[in-house]
Amino acid sequence: MKKLIALALAATAVFAQAQTYPGTKPISFVVPFAAGGPTDRVARDLAEAMRKAMGGSANFVVENVNGAGGTIGMAKVAKASNDGHTLLVHHIGMAAAPGLYRKLSFKVADDFEFLGMINEVPMTLIGKPQLPANTYRDFENYIRTNAGKLNIAHAGLGSASHLCGLMWQSRLQASEAMTTIPFGGTAPAMNALVGGQVDVMCDQTTNTTGQIEAGRVKAFAVTTAKPMSNHKLLKDYPTLQEMGLKGFELTIWHGLYAPKGTPPAVLTQLNNALKIALKDPEFIKKQEGLGAVVVTDKRVEPANHKAFVAAETAKLKPVIEAAGKFAD
Ligand code: ASP
Repeated sequence: MKKLIALALAATAVFAQAQTYPGTKPISFVVPFAAGGPTDRVARDLAEAMRKAMGGSANFVVENVNGAGGTIGMAKVAKASNDGHTLLVHHIGMAAAPGLYRKLSFKVADDFEFLGMINEVPMTLIGKPQLPANTYRDFENYIRTNAGKLNIAHAGLGSASHLCGLMWQSRLQASEAMTTIPFGGTAPAMNALVGGQVDVMCDQTTNTTGQIEAGRVKAFAVTTAKPMSNHKLLKDYPTLQEMGLKGFELTIWHGLYAPKGTPPAVLTQLNNALKIALKDPEFIKKQEGLGAVVVTDKRVEPANHKAFVAAETAKLKPVIEAAGKFAD
């Protein structure tokens, strides 16, 4: 009997929580990179779509906690209060960090609730506008003939741009080619590229599309397996596979996470709002225009997304190890 009463009380508490959440307190999306970059952009667009999905009264804020390739923001959310008011919007770094950092203050699989996947985004290899090369072939030749003199920008150890640069340099067997320059996100890295202070970067299309279109950077290749024939701008660039880097493919995904122990009713509410947001035509249109594909499959379910991240972690480990000698 006592057990039944306890169960009933617990159920009432869960129900009450679902009734009162989120209330007037804002839901903070922690973005582990600088404002204005690709992760930040996804987070801001998603916040708007989820606000609508939750009836328009939920109040979302975006907090940029950058540094150490996203792991500072990850640690902040892992240790945050698990009341559903602090969430993490992050990318493939959830799977890369465990393979790249010898010591992390959290465990991805144990310290987060997985709310679901948001989108998939290809990357583009771009260069400063002053580079003499206009095609990928010329670009690669330029890199080889200027080995040791060039800089490649990224968003810190374990970031998507770092990963892409590592994989690319390792496939070129051009260990001596470039010095890596870390930034707090690829928004400031992009400013440095546009300004000519760094030479090369590989970044999500959600950050590069507008800059390529405006002619502020030069684009050389995309990282998809097949050409992006459906994209009005990016269809004009070759894949790295077409350029001879057999099997090269890198797609960045973004997901939504909460601290471990967030109440199940709150997680369900957030996951439902995420699913509605991912069907929002305005959100889809914005993402597609920037080359991203909004997730429509079962990876939007928490358990499936968690399994996907675990599979990505296992898949990236040997890639990181092979490319590791290019890290500095
Ligand atoms: N695109 C960045 C990365 O390379 C992160 C960002 O600024 O969103 O991981």
